[in-house]
Amino acid sequence: MFERSGYHFFTFRGIDVAVSPWYMLLMAFFAFGGLLRAGGGASGAELQYGLLLVIGVTVSLLIHEFGHAFVSKYYGLRPSILLHGFGGLCAHEPADSDGKDAFIVFAGPGIELVFGGLCAVFGWFVLPQLGLSPPVYSVLADFTNILIWFNIVWGALNLLLPIWPLDGGQLFHLLLRRFMPEARAQELALKVSIFVLIPVGIIGFMYLKSFFVALLAFFLLMNNINALKAGQQLVARQAKVRASDFQQELFEEAEAALADGDVREAYRLCHQLRSTGDMPAKMLDRVWEILTVTAVEMERFDEAKSYAKRAPDTAAVKQARARLETQTA
Ligand SMILES: [Zn+2]
Repeated sequence: MFERSGYHFFTFRGIDVAVSPWYMLLMAFFAFGGLLRAGGGASGAELQYGLLLVIGVTVSLLIHEFGHAFVSKYYGLRPSILLHGFGGLCAHEPADSDGKDAFIVFAGPGIELVFGGLCAVFGWFVLPQLGLSPPVYSVLADFTNILIWFNIVWGALNLLLPIWPLDGGQLFHLLLRRFMPEARAQELALKVSIFVLIPVGIIGFMYLKSFFVALLAFFLLMNNINALKAGQQLVARQAKVRASDFQQELFEEAEAALADGDVREAYRLCHQLRSTGDMPAKMLDRVWEILTVTAVEMERFDEAKSYAKRAPDTAAVKQARARLETQTA
């Protein structure tokens, strides 16, 4: 429904952030919207406020999306973030349980509300005590107010409104799934979402005079109706891979060999294990870790480097990486 790709913006803790052209257009509208409303009479104050708005909204969206991204990264689901014309999106591989999904979804608005609360404490209690000069104070107060307003309002609406595919709609659907069969939960979640979107669109247009809210509501409404008609799957589930008895046996032998200091044997067993095909993510992580550590011990540095890229950030892997650095330096 929304755009799926954009230009690479930056990478933080292994999480790529991209920005779509529509997002840039939206931000340009925020930045210069004040000037347009002022009838072209270019005022520095309006432009300054527009820029604060762009920075504030971007920071807030990033905090929200990084909330989703950090939790999905914790579950090993390779997240990436896109800022698009209607806000943000954190894409990740499917989780293997509803509980994990719920935590990933909740973390976005959750972290945003906490951040908004901290900004409120700063803006109301700390900022006035700092004794800043009036121009500096007014810029900081404007900026803090944007952060408070945006994080608390957007965070709360996102969490509370059962609109699909916003966070509240996803949580609502996950909740329904606990009480009824999936087909029924899917249908009910979309019908409730449609029922809520109609007044939201009307209020946005008539009372808030927000073309943006009305357009977003309209897009979501069309998307919901299509999803309902098509019986579209609302959650993707990663199939749980179970270790076979043979894999489990090899894995235990590799651990035992490593514990005995038999690096060569641990390395050999992990290689053999890798050739057995799919295995649980946790087991695979450990296999990459053992391969990294043993390959470094055996001074197969080039090979170790490619394992280290796939291994999780454990103390042993970090140590092995540090040794690789000194070897190649
Ligand atoms: Zn979200």
